[in-house]
Amino acid sequence: MKGRCTCGEIRFHLTDTPLITHCCHCTWCQRESGSAFALNAMIETRYVALDGGRPEELALPSASGKGQIVARCPRCQVALWSHYAGAGRAFAFVRVGTLDAAASVAPDVHIFTDSAHPWITFPEGAKVFPAFYRRSETWRPEALARGEAERARQAQQQQQQ
Ligand SMILES: [Zn+2]
Ligand SMILES: [Zn+2]
Repeated sequence: MKGRCTCGEIRFHLTDTPLITHCCHCTWCQRESGSAFALNAMIETRYVALDGGRPEELALPSASGKGQIVARCPRCQVALWSHYAGAGRAFAFVRVGTLDAAASVAPDVHIFTDSAHPWITFPEGAKVFPAFYRRSETWRPEALARGEAERARQAQQQQQQ
């Protein structure tokens, strides 16, 4: 799955499918996107392969208070993905709108819908959470296994350092 910024300096592709795609209706995402929600595909950071350019990293505050790192194009400043303190550097939240096939990446879950704009209606059968969810009850089994493997891999790497 290929993606890019607006000016085309940064080009990347995902070497696997996203673990889960969040449609986040929190007020932070609303402000940062300038829209009603943000659409983020979560994937192991090592599966985000750069094909051109080098994103600039910006440390910003986040709703959790622990901060986030946003990777942006140094030229057009489009935000491509974020690393949140909770999931750590090992996981990237790719802004779905930067993917060429963005329209094919539908959200798996709607989160923080307590602050969803009143005109939004959720599709029938959509997984809708007023705040956040429990991973073990929500992720696909293969995504859960991948997530666990990645966290174990990170823990091992940290031990070796
Ligand atoms: Zn750019
Ligand atoms: Zn949010």
